[in-house]
Amino acid sequence: MDILVINCGSSSLKYQLIDMNGENVLAKGIVERIGIDGSRIKHEPHNSEKIVIEEPIKNHKEALKMVVDAITNSEYGVIESMDQISAVGHRVVHGGEDFSKSVIIDDKVMDALNRNIELAPLHNPPNIIGIEACKEIMPNVPMVAVFDTAFHQTLPEENYIYAIPYEYYEKYKIRRYGFHGTSHKYVAIRTAEILNKQLSDLNAITCHLGNGASITAIKSGISIDTSMGFTPLEGLAMGTRSGNIDPAIIPFLMKKENMSFDDVNDVLNKKSGVLGVSGISSDFRDLEDEAEKGNKRAKLALNLFANRVVKYISAYASELGRVDAIVFTAGVGENSPLIREMVCENLGILGVKIDKNVNDFKGKERMISTDDSKVKVLVVPTNEELMIARETVELVK
Ligand code: AMP
Repeated sequence: MDILVINCGSSSLKYQLIDMNGENVLAKGIVERIGIDGSRIKHEPHNSEKIVIEEPIKNHKEALKMVVDAITNSEYGVIESMDQISAVGHRVVHGGEDFSKSVIIDDKVMDALNRNIELAPLHNPPNIIGIEACKEIMPNVPMVAVFDTAFHQTLPEENYIYAIPYEYYEKYKIRRYGFHGTSHKYVAIRTAEILNKQLSDLNAITCHLGNGASITAIKSGISIDTSMGFTPLEGLAMGTRSGNIDPAIIPFLMKKENMSFDDVNDVLNKKSGVLGVSGISSDFRDLEDEAEKGNKRAKLALNLFANRVVKYISAYASELGRVDAIVFTAGVGENSPLIREMVCENLGILGVKIDKNVNDFKGKERMISTDDSKVKVLVVPTNEELMIARETVELVK
């Protein structure tokens, strides 16, 4: 069964075609700069060289046509015809309170997706455009929506209600939703497999540390707390996002700097985090290089980032009572031995011990805790596309 996984952004469309019989990626790629000068598709078939085609691509429908052409092309394609695609799985950022699971897309689902636009005005519209384009080009292929928020719909009320007047939850659905759910779920399932446990017996703290970063407390296999909130701005310090700050800073800055709401939003989302603190870069590789050379603010940004991770892990350990595993994933979690070490060396209170030599690697699955560590510490590369494809198969088979 071949599943096409689609992840649409405002000017990009990422795709993977996965043969679910062996869970093998047949092809993957990205259409970039949709509707902007310099649009192109980068297509990577599993059995031949990567190709790049540059030509004007006006909209997402044209982008999807190019994807279909690329995967069925007689030279660099990987399947003979579109009929081989059994279903399409779409990443959708925000499911609001309507979706606690992935769903087959029908008219009712489309209505709910449109209703949830106000919760994710930047992310949901391109997701919806991607679904509409697929419907036009492959009208008979079943489609599934897989939500970043769905895994966190199991949070208990006290963990999702904010301490602001309750009426705002009732009127506007202001609450914690949590994000990166597909990634947290994937690594939780994989961790249970590695530890030879049922998912329903697993208590774990999963740390998705990438350009966006979030931590989730998983009790008996379900999400009970997570660091991102109403939007993906809350929680950890990130590449360019502030994470938690005193909310009173916002009106203070607006007054002092004569800023509008949009200006502040821009600062907190795009100019803060480790970029804002270091003044150098949002990329942890640059910060690690600069810190090594003695740059104090690069060092400060790394310390501040790691320290917040420690605080969340410690708090979630208390909430969970028992922790079987702490899991690192995503760009930084998978590839930065330094950040993993900085975090783990401050978790002595939980009985966490890692082997520094074993930790000195990137991009693979590995247990980095010592045999006498009270909590297992693992690195598990995330695979959101595969998770989306699996959920799609589950629903359409
Ligand atoms: P993601 O959002 O999961 O794709 O993660 C992207 C981030 O991972 C980049 O911004 C880098 O900061 C970080 N990253 C990737 N490779 C490394 C590495 N070798 N060492 C440290 N950080 C890395």
